[in-house]
Amino acid sequence: MIPTRTASVAVAVALATAAAPPAAPGLAAQDASADYTEPYQRQAFEIYRTAIGFRTAAGHGQVPALARYLAGEFRAGGFPTEDVHVLPQTVPGGEETASLVVRYRGDGSSGLDPILLIAHMDVVDALPEDWERNPFTLIEEDGYFFGRGTLDDKFGVSTLTATFLRLKAAGWVPTRDLVLGFSGDEETGMLTTRALVTTHRGLTDAEFALNADAGGGSVGPAGEGIAYHIQTSEKTYATFDFTVRNPGGHSSMPRPDNAIYQLAEALRRLEAFRFPVRTTEATLRYFEESARVTGGELGEAMRRFADDPADAGAIEVLWAYPELVDTFERWSQRGGVRWPTADGGTRRSTRRGWWNWCGRAVARTNWPVSSSPRRRRSGAGWSWRTGMRVCARTI
Ligand SMILES: [Zn+2]
Repeated sequence: MIPTRTASVAVAVALATAAAPPAAPGLAAQDASADYTEPYQRQAFEIYRTAIGFRTAAGHGQVPALARYLAGEFRAGGFPTEDVHVLPQTVPGGEETASLVVRYRGDGSSGLDPILLIAHMDVVDALPEDWERNPFTLIEEDGYFFGRGTLDDKFGVSTLTATFLRLKAAGWVPTRDLVLGFSGDEETGMLTTRALVTTHRGLTDAEFALNADAGGGSVGPAGEGIAYHIQTSEKTYATFDFTVRNPGGHSSMPRPDNAIYQLAEALRRLEAFRFPVRTTEATLRYFEESARVTGGELGEAMRRFADDPADAGAIEVLWAYPELVDTFERWSQRGGVRWPTADGGTRRSTRRGWWNWCGRAVARTNWPVSSSPRRRRSGAGWSWRTGMRVCARTI
């Protein structure tokens, strides 16, 4: 998922949102775990704590163990064995991962197809020696939870699981089936996600899906609801290689130009480049609504931008907030997005979606003037090479 400015707040209220509507009075964001007195609150916390404890990063083989643990919780909570599916999958490299699918059967009275609720059980790895606290131990401190996946996405996994169990325990019966689909390699190959809608389509078919790994609410210090965000598309990225070639020379015969300087010049131009500002109905509505609950200079810039997307002053303010500024070109009506090419033109992509713009730059200098005749003959010379990643974003 893409972090948002409200992410830390969302973590702080993980248990509150698991158990009750975000704006429920009396559920303070700073509650300590000891204050979770209701059984469903304790259960939600325990699931969250346990899920964080599995190192479900690629290479550690812990996703199937988490899936089995959760499956056990669902069965213990009254979900029939035939509605709880741990789906093993081997990914390239030979590692075993898994998905989990759970069906909450409705009475069918609505006549509607199921709703699919999705999250992912894996995390990006974290090295304990790089963290101030053990990333695979849930630590609650000063009203915040710390640990790998506390937000992305064991928060989603835990809240969905706890909510299903709470509703089941209360005897609630939905008017259509609800289906949980937890994938096991979202942060890497996403093959389990693909399998959920292909190989296992019979288990997951639904009218629509809601993704716990996107959007999200924000609350104030007293737990009052401020806003709830709904994600309409996913940011992704494109990678570009910059290669600069230069005849080079020998260090005893320095020349005024070389590949490093040329690349540096290109990067300076990249730094100065601003992608054109473009909007959609969804982005304008986002700024319009967010302006109502965002104070100060930012809130004012949002409002002005929603009123006039060409407002240069508002754009300048928004540029300072990377989480608000992204995607250099919208998927056009005719299809495809365009990005700049080295010759100053643009190139059309055939991929749908919104794009970050990232690139890798490589400078290479070949020195044909070499003490090695063989090298000189081959033209290979010596090479000097450096690389760096560059990334630019726009609205
Ligand atoms: Zn995620």
